[in-house]
Amino acid sequence: MIKKQRKPSIKLRQLEALFRRLNTSHHRRKDVEDDLFKARAGYKGEQQLDYDLTFLRDHEFLILSDLRLPHQGKHFQLDSLLISPYFFLHIDAKHLSGKIEIDHTLGQMKRVRPNNEEDVYSDPTLQIKRHELQLREWLQVNKQPLLPFESLVVFTHPNAYLTILNGHPYRRRIIKNGLLIEKITGLQQKYRRPVFSHKDLQKICRQLIKQHTPSWENLLQKYSISPDDIRTGVFCPKCGWRPMERIHGNWRCINQSCKYEDRNCHLAALDDFALIFGPMISNAQLRNFLHLSSFATAYRILSNMKLLYKGEQRYRVYYLPLD
Ligand SMILES: [Zn+2]
Repeated sequence: MIKKQRKPSIKLRQLEALFRRLNTSHHRRKDVEDDLFKARAGYKGEQQLDYDLTFLRDHEFLILSDLRLPHQGKHFQLDSLLISPYFFLHIDAKHLSGKIEIDHTLGQMKRVRPNNEEDVYSDPTLQIKRHELQLREWLQVNKQPLLPFESLVVFTHPNAYLTILNGHPYRRRIIKNGLLIEKITGLQQKYRRPVFSHKDLQKICRQLIKQHTPSWENLLQKYSISPDDIRTGVFCPKCGWRPMERIHGNWRCINQSCKYEDRNCHLAALDDFALIFGPMISNAQLRNFLHLSSFATAYRILSNMKLLYKGEQRYRVYYLPLD
């Protein structure tokens, strides 16, 4: 049973927004694009994993996707966490194609693409071991009983050819997605003694979801991009023209071959604002971003969105929810 559905992460949505809005001639555009492709591939892998998990016959698992939990002043992220009365299973999806070689003695992984370009990563079992430890500590801090814990690295790309070098102590934890169900069935046979009641399970699930903290990272700072290099205005959802004009409460595309009109086109622009600049916005920032001259119009837009706010009059800032 899926308790927390997967949707594109804040990180992926931030990169999408930044790539859409960054000046087309900016020198960091290629870096943003590369990171966006990686994040999209990651999401694709996670979706493939979700699909593979639909073949699980046993409905005793509660499945939580994309959890980000606080731990000792930082956060750790779990792609997929399956919990049952018998054991926990954490699965980390890797969506890489090409020839992949994992060497635990040096803690590294190499991928050779079809065009012979090489990428180097850390041995992914190092990350799952770290997450395992963090989740154990999280359970202790939150006064939850400890369950047997398993974790897997699952390669989801059909064109991934894996080699695991000799002497890898966790080689059984690295598989391709085709073997996932068989692997899980094997674990179910290994852990037959229930540790949790179903009621306990629901309780811990609620606590995990409650502590889930979506991330927002200041990407302008990360890529050294000035706010002036972000293109403002409302994009036409039909033809991509920018900026749309607001006329009598409607957004209108001024591209003569399009002329699309809609009342709510500003919502996508405000999503972009929150993803790029953070979730707080003032009336003046909104006017600047949406190309509006009237304080009253901006006020009406913000009031209609029924946002939380703090401060009064022109010092008021509104909170745009990211999730
Ligand atoms: Zn248009």
